[in-house]
Amino acid sequence: MNRHHVFLLTRQRLAGLYTLIMGVILSLCGLGFYTVLAQDHWLSLNRKLGSVAGTLHDGIEPALEEPGQIEPMIQDFLPGLVCVRELDCFESSSLGERHLAGVVQQDDYYIRLVDPSGQLIATVGQAPELLADGFGVDPWMTIVTPEGTSYRQVSVFLKTQSQDPWGYIQVGQSLNEYEARLRRMGWTLLIGLPLGLLGVAAASWWLAGVAMKPVYDSYRQVQQFTADAAHELRTPLAAIASTVEFSLGEPHLSQQEMGHTLGVIERQTSRLGNLVRDLLLLSRIDLQIERVSQTRCDVNLLVDEVLEEFAALAIASQVQLKRQGRSDPLWIWGDEEQLYRLFANLVANGIQYTQEGGTVTTSVQQHDGLIQIRVEDTGIGIPPDQQQRIFDRFYRVQGDRSRHSGGSGLGLAIAQAIASTHKGTLTVKTQVGQGSCFTVHLPEHPKT
Ligand code: ADP
Repeated sequence: MNRHHVFLLTRQRLAGLYTLIMGVILSLCGLGFYTVLAQDHWLSLNRKLGSVAGTLHDGIEPALEEPGQIEPMIQDFLPGLVCVRELDCFESSSLGERHLAGVVQQDDYYIRLVDPSGQLIATVGQAPELLADGFGVDPWMTIVTPEGTSYRQVSVFLKTQSQDPWGYIQVGQSLNEYEARLRRMGWTLLIGLPLGLLGVAAASWWLAGVAMKPVYDSYRQVQQFTADAAHELRTPLAAIASTVEFSLGEPHLSQQEMGHTLGVIERQTSRLGNLVRDLLLLSRIDLQIERVSQTRCDVNLLVDEVLEEFAALAIASQVQLKRQGRSDPLWIWGDEEQLYRLFANLVANGIQYTQEGGTVTTSVQQHDGLIQIRVEDTGIGIPPDQQQRIFDRFYRVQGDRSRHSGGSGLGLAIAQAIASTHKGTLTVKTQVGQGSCFTVHLPEHPKT
């Protein structure tokens, strides 16, 4: 399967999983929200009914004289009261003078006055007709009419002035509005949830992309690195193979030809050896397993040793090697071999990329707890667009590959990796045709 396809599949899986988890969480939240709101509506509906019934009870009960008898005062208290049997009711004198809470005047409320056995005496409002009898006298009831309309009803016991049972006052309310509210909430959730999930899916897709980008980039880097390493290893190997093949095809090689053949093999083997050593060093730095050999190192001493080693090469290349700055010991904490490698790479490059007659100046300075090592040359310089890329593994400035430099393009990558494992930095300032200045900053090791 194509690698790119694997990443795409992983991204899809990640986004899908995230959406699924968020979907479950959102659904549970929605369900919880719906249940809490429904319960809240139900409780406030019951509270309201209970308080209306309580008010009516307190207003009516003191006026009750005979069981089952509707006093005129009750008729005044409940305008619109319709008696089932005329003999239970009196002619009302001041109908409508005193009004109850406006709530019972509303269409979806009804009030029923019933005798202790539950027989209807009088009623106000739109009581569900088909259930004129048999409502029951339980304190709280939910009644469903044959047409499917639901009512919530509360019954409160009434006594006469002489403490005899009078009957009950029942207050009921249609559940139409309550059910409509629940339906509205349900629909809002049903439509809102998938829409929300669509948003979550889009966000998950984007998030999965962001999360996978570094993995994908580093995978591409590893891929590029492997390809470059294979290419670099193939060149000397091919040279050795063709030289050996040529030699084997020539049964009578002269001493001079033999020397030349062995010289080629030796050069290419050493190139291979250097490459493998560089690759190993880089992978060790990557894995951070070179840190064991850390000691206190004198930077000035290391720089002097490097310059001593490259003096011969500088003379051969007709490049002048200069040394500036302090010469007293300047200590840093690190791996001596690696630090030597770092300075050596910079000085070697300076000599390599400077024309005959040029200069490579190395200076060491110290300030603010940092030690600064500069390797400045008067060489060919580096074009601005390539100045950051020169630190990439195997990268060589365009055209340099064809030059007879012999470099693998790992020198600066190694130098930068060493600087950063020593908590330092490596930067470059350069101008084409003017020269380059590589600066290393490393933290100074305290003297004590
Ligand atoms: P190489 O082994 O090819 O020298 P490096 O990683 O050391 O690899 O350098 C990468 C590239 O940066 C080189 O190929 C060269 O083009 C450029 N470079 C490095 N140092 C200098 C310098 N002092 N002056 C000009 N170009 C340089």
